[in-house]
Amino acid sequence: MERNQSSPLPPGSTIGIIGGGQLGRMLAMAAARLGYKTIVLDPAKDCPASQTSNHHIEAAYDDVEALKMLGKRSDVITYEFENIPANALYFLEENIGLKPDRLALEKSQDRLVEKDFLSQLKIATAPYHPVSSFDELANAVSLIDTPSILKTRRFGYDGKGQARLPLNPSEDELAAAWTSVGESESILESFFIFQREISVIVCRSATAQIVAYDPAENVHRGGILRTSEVPAAITASTANEATRIAISIVEALEYVGVMGVEFFVAPNGDLAVNEIAPRVHNSGHWTEAAGIVSQFEQHIRAVANLPLGDCARHSDCVMENLIGDDVDIIPSLLTQKGVRIHLYGKAETRPGRKMGHFTRLT
Ligand code: AMP
Repeated sequence: MERNQSSPLPPGSTIGIIGGGQLGRMLAMAAARLGYKTIVLDPAKDCPASQTSNHHIEAAYDDVEALKMLGKRSDVITYEFENIPANALYFLEENIGLKPDRLALEKSQDRLVEKDFLSQLKIATAPYHPVSSFDELANAVSLIDTPSILKTRRFGYDGKGQARLPLNPSEDELAAAWTSVGESESILESFFIFQREISVIVCRSATAQIVAYDPAENVHRGGILRTSEVPAAITASTANEATRIAISIVEALEYVGVMGVEFFVAPNGDLAVNEIAPRVHNSGHWTEAAGIVSQFEQHIRAVANLPLGDCARHSDCVMENLIGDDVDIIPSLLTQKGVRIHLYGKAETRPGRKMGHFTRLT
C-alpha cells in the first residue's frame, strides 16, 4: 500500500496496533485523544486494547491473511511488544511498513544481538557470554567468575526464562539452570552489583526530533517491575549520562517512536544498560498521570509524523503496578488524594498478572 511516509497523518486516520495488552490499550486511548482511530491485532477475544480500540482483528500474530487485513485497514502500523514472529515481520516490512522498523526489533528480540549492538556503540553492559550447550555454560561460568544470571536469548520477559547462579556453582546447580532455560540458546551475564535501577523513556521522530523524560528509579521483585519513582535519587551527571546513552541508541537505529532503556547504576554512579525495549514501557506509565504529554501520546505523535511533545512533568510521583491480588487495595486507593488509577480491563486475576497500576503524585 502506497502512503506518504513523511507528512502528518490527518485526524480520522487509522493506526494499526499489533498486540492488544495494556500497552496497546493505552496507545489506543492516546490515539483517540489526538483524533485517530485504532485497529488492534491480538489473538485473545476481549483483550485489554480491544475495549478501547475501534476495531479488533482476533487472529494469531503470524496469520498472514489477518496481517493483510490489518495493512489494508491501517494508515500506519505500530506494535506494543517486541516478540513479533519473524514471518509476520518480513511480511509487514515488505508490504506495509512498520514503526518502529524491523532493525529496532531485530536488535532487541535477541539478548545476544542486543548486547553486541550496545557493545559496538561502546555502551557498557554487564559482562556476558553466549551459551548454546551445557559445556558452554560451564565454560562461561568460569570465564565470568562472579555470581551470574543465565537468560534465554529470545522470548524472555518479566524475569521469565532466567536462572541465577552463585560463584562456583555445583554441577547440579548448573544442570538445574540449564534445564530452567529449556536448554535453549542463552547468554550468561555477570550479576551486576547495582545501587539502583533506572530507566529513560526516549522518543525520536522521523524528522530526528528527540525528546526524553527524566529517568525513573525502578524497583523489581521476582523480575517484575513493582514501582517507578520520579525523580530518581541520582546525581545530575548520572541522569545526563543515562539520557545521552538513550539518545545515542535511538540515533544509531534512526528509530521512530518511544523506546525504554533500562540501566543498572553502580554504587560509584557508573551505568550499564540492562536492556532496551522498542516500545512504550511499564516504567513510563507515570507520564500518563504526572506528565504534560504521556509516553503513549509521544509514541502516537512519532508514528503519525506529528511534532513531539513536552516531556516536563507537573508533579513528582511514584507509579506502582497492581499485580494479581493487589487489586484488592483499589477501594482504598479510590478514597486517597493525589492518586490516579488505571485498570486494564482484564477479567481474570491471576498471580503475577499485571492488572493495572496507580500513580501517586508526591
Ligand atoms: P530483565 O528481564 O533482563 O530485565 O531482568 C529483570 C530484572 O532482573 C532486572 O531489572 C534486575 O533487577 C534483575 N537482573 C537482570 N539481569 C541482571 C544482572 N546482570 N545483574 C543484576 N541483576 C539483574
